[in-house]
Amino acid sequence: MRVLSVASECAPLVKTGGLADVAGALPGALAPLGVEMRTLLPGYPAVIAALEGAEPVWAGEAPGLGAGRILSGRAAGLDLMVLEAPQHFDRAGGPYLGPDGTDWPDNPERFAALSRAAGIIVDGEGGGWQPDIVHCHDWQAGLAPYHIARAGHVVPTVMTIHNIAFQGLAPAAKLTALRIDKADFTREGVEYWGQVSALKAGLVFADHLTTVSPGYARELMTPDFGMGLDGVLRARADALSGILNGIDETVWDPATDTEIKRYRTPRGKAPNTARLRAEFGLRDAAGPLCVVVSRLTEQKGLDLLLEALPALLDRGGQLALLGAGDPGLEHAFTALAGPDVGVRIGYDEALSHRMIAGGDAILVPSRFEPCGLTQLYGLKYGTLPVVALTGGLADTVIPATPAGLARPVATGLQFHPVTAQALADALIRLCELYARPELWSKLQRNAMAHPVGWDGSAAEYAALYERLVRSR
Ligand code: ADP
Repeated sequence: MRVLSVASECAPLVKTGGLADVAGALPGALAPLGVEMRTLLPGYPAVIAALEGAEPVWAGEAPGLGAGRILSGRAAGLDLMVLEAPQHFDRAGGPYLGPDGTDWPDNPERFAALSRAAGIIVDGEGGGWQPDIVHCHDWQAGLAPYHIARAGHVVPTVMTIHNIAFQGLAPAAKLTALRIDKADFTREGVEYWGQVSALKAGLVFADHLTTVSPGYARELMTPDFGMGLDGVLRARADALSGILNGIDETVWDPATDTEIKRYRTPRGKAPNTARLRAEFGLRDAAGPLCVVVSRLTEQKGLDLLLEALPALLDRGGQLALLGAGDPGLEHAFTALAGPDVGVRIGYDEALSHRMIAGGDAILVPSRFEPCGLTQLYGLKYGTLPVVALTGGLADTVIPATPAGLARPVATGLQFHPVTAQALADALIRLCELYARPELWSKLQRNAMAHPVGWDGSAAEYAALYERLVRSR
C-alpha cells in the first residue's frame, strides 16, 4: 500500500504545532503494517537543506503552481517528495507567517501549489512511484482532493482535520490563481460565505474525512464547534471518523529521553523536578509544580488560567509556563513571574521535554482541542494532566472522580464547563490529591501505563486505507 501524505509541516523538519508531530510520526507507525508512506512537503529552506539524495521527478510549469520541480529524497529518516518552488517557499520566516508575525498574503496560492503538486504526482509524475491513496492534512492540502477528483482519477483521498479553526479562506478573485473552476464556486462546492475555502474543498471532494479524536469528530458536527462547517460535516457524517493521535515514543519516553534524567517509575521524576525548579528560579514548595507547554492563543484557554492561578498558588502549588503567541497573554504571564511562577516566552523543544519530565501536573484548559498532544506526553511521563472536558482531551484522560478512583484507571483531572471557576476547582482538587502521596503515585502509575503510542491508531488508518482501495 503506497500512501502519499500531503502536509505543510512535518517534525522534526518544520513544526508549528501538533500537525507536524503527526505528519512526522505516521510513516514510521504505518511501515510495520505494510504501508509505504511518502510525505509531500513545501520546499522551505530548512526542508531543502535537509534533503539527501534529491532526484527531480518532475520539472516544469503548471497552472496553479507556476514554475517548479518536485524532488524525491530523504530527510530525518522520512521518504519525502518536496515541491521546490522558490517563489512560494524560499523565504525567511515561518511556514505561514512572515518575519513580522503576520500571515503571508499569498498563503492561498502557496498551498494551492502544494495541492497541485499532489495532483501532478497522481498524474503519474512521481518518478515511477504511484500512490494508492492520497492522505491530505488540513486546509493547506485541501485542494488536493479537489484536483484529484476533478481530473477524474480513481485514487481515493482522505482529508484529515487537525483544527477546523484554520480554513484557508481566499477572496473569490483568486479562483483562477488557485486553479478552481468557476462552476465549483457554489455552496455545494468550495464557496464559503462568498470566499473560497480550501478546507471546505477537501471536506466536499475527499472520499473519506477523519479528525484526530472521536470526541472532536462528534463536536465538529455541532454549531458550537464546527465553525460554520458543521453543516458540511453533518452532510458527510457517514464518511467522517475520529482516529486518535498518538505520540512518537522514540522521541517522548522518559526511559530513553536524552534531554532529562531518565526514569521508568514515578519516583525517578524527583531529580527532574528539582532541576526544573532550579532552571526556572522557583523555590521549594509543598504543592504540585504545574507546567504548561502551549501556543498562547484564545483556543488554549490560558486566560482562564490567569484567573484561576491564585487557587493553585494559595495552596503551595507552582506554575512553569513555556509558550508564545498572543502578546497580551505573553505580557500577563511574564508579569506574574516570581518565586512560584516561572515563565519562558518562546519555542524550545528541549526545554519542553525537561518541563514534561519535571512537572507534577500539566495543565491544558483548552476551549476546544481536536486531540492535544501535551496531555499525552504528560501521561507517558507520569505528569498528571488537568484538562478541559472537550475533544481529544475528554477522550484521553480518565478523570479521578470517585468512580475513577475506585478502580485502577484514573489518570488525571477533567473540568467542565470550561470556565476559570471550574479550572480553579480542579486545581484545588489537584492539590488535595497531591497531599495524599500514595494515591498520587497510584495515579502516576496509571498514567504511565496508559497506552499513548501509535499502534492502535496506525492500525485504524491502515484499515481505512485498505477499505477505501478495495471499494474502488
Ligand atoms: P496545537 O497543534 O494546537 O498547537 P497540540 O497539543 O496538538 O496543539 O500540539 C502542540 C505541539 O507543539 C506539542 O508537541 C507541544 O509540545 C509543542 N509546543 C507548543 N508550544 C511549544 C513551545 N513554546 N515550545 C516547545 N514546544 C511547543
